[in-house]
Amino acid sequence: MAAYQQTVKLANKSIILNTIREQEPISRAALAQTLGLTKATVSSLVEELINEQYCYQTGLGKSSGGRRPLMLQFNEKAGYSLSCDIGVNYILTVLTDLRGSVIHEISRSFDTNDFTRTVMEIKVMLDECLVKAENAPFGLVGIGFGVPGLVDKNGTILTTPNLDWTQSNVKEIFEDQYGVPVVVTNEANAGAYGEKTFGSARHTSSFVYVSAGIGIGAGIVLDDRLVMGAGGLSGEIGHTTIKDEGRSCRCGSKGCWEMYASEMALLRSFPENGHDLENLLSKAETDAAVRNALEEIGYYLGVGLTNIIHTFNPEKIVIGNRLAKAERFIAEAMYASVKERTLPQLYNQTDISFSRSYYYAAPYGLTAFNIETFLQKQFLPPATAGSTPS
Ligand SMILES: [Zn+2]
Repeated sequence: MAAYQQTVKLANKSIILNTIREQEPISRAALAQTLGLTKATVSSLVEELINEQYCYQTGLGKSSGGRRPLMLQFNEKAGYSLSCDIGVNYILTVLTDLRGSVIHEISRSFDTNDFTRTVMEIKVMLDECLVKAENAPFGLVGIGFGVPGLVDKNGTILTTPNLDWTQSNVKEIFEDQYGVPVVVTNEANAGAYGEKTFGSARHTSSFVYVSAGIGIGAGIVLDDRLVMGAGGLSGEIGHTTIKDEGRSCRCGSKGCWEMYASEMALLRSFPENGHDLENLLSKAETDAAVRNALEEIGYYLGVGLTNIIHTFNPEKIVIGNRLAKAERFIAEAMYASVKERTLPQLYNQTDISFSRSYYYAAPYGLTAFNIETFLQKQFLPPATAGSTPS
């Protein structure tokens, strides 16, 4: 087969498979109609996809007059994906199938300041997850890492402002160890992509995911695309200034948003608490000082959200990461603060909510990156260098 025809065929297979993933269960006739391909082309490519175990035939669908059609579904058991959300004070590893359903997860409180110890701990956790994986034709398709730091477009970690890492070659270490593609990205971008793919922003084309943990980062999706910026570093919104001569930040600047509205800002007010957010939240029920501190966090969260609304005019802002746990103590002050300072025209167009799946937002996004990277690679045309079109 000519290289050109081969390329077209692979592209069509890839489009068919992606349409099955998005619209399953779907019949061959519906695929042909949706994609503008002939029924014969669809049938022969679907046959290949079934033989290669990317999809399978399921029960009968509704008839539109004639025989009830056989429906097709994506084979979520064709492989599995690992993702690892590295926080400043925790590690979360998640094993999922190719539809993003969680097979196994491990969450540990862990001081990730020491790079070598952190890498060792992650390997232990990933291996514990892998024990739970069942046999699958493609096995492990990739590992994704979300890190609290600046990560460029190639997955190189440039700096981790809240961690004292002196080396950061996560991609190389884990590619060597596991022999699969490794995706490394900023945890807020991963979270945004998770909300976009599997979460509450699935049907929203312009939204901002605000990851409020020890620091604050944002993943920005405009017109259905994750905005990465010139070097892949967009979304460092925790370091925008909200007080010009304010508290000194680890980034070297003063008055950064995350010095007032993050988990760190809250915990620093209660040093005797042992830096335990859950403990502090349970104290808030009875302790007015804790409640007041939480309300202040809500107020400053609203100040920064106002800047986001005026800059991007998003349909939706989703607040995720650990501070989402504090919703019932911070929400009222936050909404009031936003309403007070946002132009009404913009205010009315923006829905602000707390992530329901905040815990999984980053792993979900990483899972989506892994699966997409894998499927793209599977349908790449063979190298055609040196060949001439015939
Ligand atoms: Zn800063």
